[in-house]
Amino acid sequence: MAGVLQRDDWRADLASILPDFFARPGREPCVPECGPGWAGVVDRCCVRIAAALEPRESFRFETIGQSQGALRIRWAGRLSAASEAAVRAAVDLAEARSLCVCELCGARGRLYRADGVLATRCPGHAKGIPARSPGMEHVHLVQLTVKGRLRVVVGARYVFESDAFVEIDDLDDLGRGEA
Ligand SMILES: [Zn+2]
Repeated sequence: MAGVLQRDDWRADLASILPDFFARPGREPCVPECGPGWAGVVDRCCVRIAAALEPRESFRFETIGQSQGALRIRWAGRLSAASEAAVRAAVDLAEARSLCVCELCGARGRLYRADGVLATRCPGHAKGIPARSPGMEHVHLVQLTVKGRLRVVVGARYVFESDAFVEIDDLDDLGRGEA
């Protein structure tokens, strides 16, 4: 698309700022295998994780890629329970945000299905038809850590503007559309 900044060096930029996050012992460094439109999503995730880590804790990405049209992040680390919960939250938020951002150009987008392939795209890059009904589009299952270790899976709606989840405690809300 005209006017779209195609920056292929965003991966190298991130790795140079946070080399520990991308180094994989005994292997090549992790290189994000997703489109440039998600550079900002990955960057936000890195900022959140860096803020969550305590001294002497470690974190690294195993893989950053795209699956079913969404960002998928695998990671490893030596973390306290609290930091692990914060990292999980950062990753959940990034994966949810990716479903609102065109993987190609970074504009606002949504999940489309074309010939059985799912992809998050802006209207300009979209092929096929929207893959989710409006009421379910940004509903996710996320793990919450309560009182230290116990993990609870809850339904939550991702809100792009605040980059946060809002827990869904009334399942009837699922049927209602969103702005
Ligand atoms: Zn686009």
